[in-house]
Amino acid sequence: MTAVVVEKPHQLRIGESRAETPGAGEVLVRVRRAGICGSDIHIFHGTNPFAKYPRVIGHEFAGEIAAVGPGVPGFSLGDRVVVDPVVACGHCYPCRVGRPNVCANLEVMGVHRDGGFRDHLVVPAANAVAVGDLPFEVAAMAEPFSIAANVLERTGGAQATDTVLIYGAGMIGLTVLLAARLEGARCIVTDIDDARLARAAELGAARVINARRESVPEAMKTENDGLGPSLVIEAAGAPGLIDEATRVASPAGRIGLLGFTAEPTPTVQQEIVKKELTIAGSRLNRRLLPRVVVWFKTRRIDPRGLVTQVFPAADAQAAFDLIARDPGSTMKVQLSFE
Ligand code: MN
Ligand code: ZN
Repeated sequence: MTAVVVEKPHQLRIGESRAETPGAGEVLVRVRRAGICGSDIHIFHGTNPFAKYPRVIGHEFAGEIAAVGPGVPGFSLGDRVVVDPVVACGHCYPCRVGRPNVCANLEVMGVHRDGGFRDHLVVPAANAVAVGDLPFEVAAMAEPFSIAANVLERTGGAQATDTVLIYGAGMIGLTVLLAARLEGARCIVTDIDDARLARAAELGAARVINARRESVPEAMKTENDGLGPSLVIEAAGAPGLIDEATRVASPAGRIGLLGFTAEPTPTVQQEIVKKELTIAGSRLNRRLLPRVVVWFKTRRIDPRGLVTQVFPAADAQAAFDLIARDPGSTMKVQLSFE
C-alpha cells in the first residue's frame, strides 16, 4: 500500500496508504493511475504558494469505487471513476453562481488537502465522475483536459470561424490545442522549444511559431484577414504576454489567461477598449470533467499519445528525477498503483 508524500520541499517519501471508511456523501476510491503535473513538481520544489507539508500530492487520478458511504446514490463497487480535485464549500458567492473552482474556501486535492497519489482515498461523491469502461490511463487525463475545457468555456468556446493563437506548447497548451480543434478552428501554437512545437504540429496545429526566431506579432498580421487571432490563449505563464495578446488579437477578440505569473506587466487599456476585447482568467475547472469524459468516450479526443512514461508509484522519485533531468523527453508521466 503506497502513498507518495512530499515530507518537505525536496524530500519525497513513499509512505503507507490505508483504506478509510467513507462517511455520508463520500466514496472510497481505489486509485489505479495518476498523472504528474507541473504543480506537483512545484510542491516538491517548495514553489507552490498554496501547499502545506507534509502533503500527499496528486490531483490527476482515476480508479474504481471501493466503498460507498451512506446516502450516496449512483455508484456501485468497481465502477471506474476519475476524481475532480476541486473541493468547494458550496455556500460562498462564487459557489452560488456556479464557479466552485474559485470558491472562497477552495481546497484542491493534492495541494490544500491530501491528494490522489495513494492506493486509497475518500473523496466527496460529488467529485467522482463515472467513466464507464475508459482505461484508467485515459481517465486520469481528464483533469488536465478540464483546464482546456474551462478556458474555452470562459472565452466563448473555439468555433469553426475562430483563428486561435495558443502561447505555450507544454501539456496545457497541447490540451487547449486538441480541445480548440474540436469544432474546426484554425489553431496556431507558439513556444520557444522546437521539439514541443513539432508535437503541436503532429497534433493538428495549422501553424507553429518559434518565438525565439520569429516575431509572433509580425506573424499574426497574415492571420484572420489581417486582423489577427480572434481567440488567444496564454498557456505559457510568461509575464508580458497579456500585453502582446491584446496587441495581436482581432477586434472583438477574446483572450484567455492560464499562466499564474505574479509579475506586474504593463498593458495598454486603449488597446482593450478600442478592440472591445474580452479578457478572462481561468483557474482549474468548474465541474467540467464530465464534458471531457464524453470527449474521450466518443474518441473525439484520444489523450494516450500525450502519456510518455508510466512508473510504478513506489518509484515516484525516479519519475520526478526524469522530469527534472530530461523534461524534453516527457509530456505526461503517470504513476501506476497496481
Ligand atoms: Mn494538473
Ligand atoms: Zn465556496
